[in-house]
Amino acid sequence: MKCTNCGSKAIESTTTSVTDLGDCVVIVRNVPCYKCEECNEIIYTLEVTERLEQMIKQARQIMQGIAVMEYTEAA
Ligand SMILES: [Zn+2]
Repeated sequence: MKCTNCGSKAIESTTTSVTDLGDCVVIVRNVPCYKCEECNEIIYTLEVTERLEQMIKQARQIMQGIAVMEYTEAA
C-alpha cells in the first residue's frame, strides 16, 4: 500500500476514527488501516470505509432514539 499523500510506504496499523456529525460525535476504536511511515497519513481500504459508514449510520440511529439527560434540580 502506498501513501495517497506523499507516495511513501504505508504499513498496516490500527487507528481511532472520529466522525463529527454535528449533533453527535462517533468514535470507532481499533479501525484497521494503513499508516504512512513518512507523513502519518491514514489510508482506509474500501472495505473498511464502507464498514465505517455503516457503523456511523447505526450510531446515528441510536443517538436519535435515545436521549441521555442529566437530572438537575429546578432553579
Ligand atoms: Zn505519506
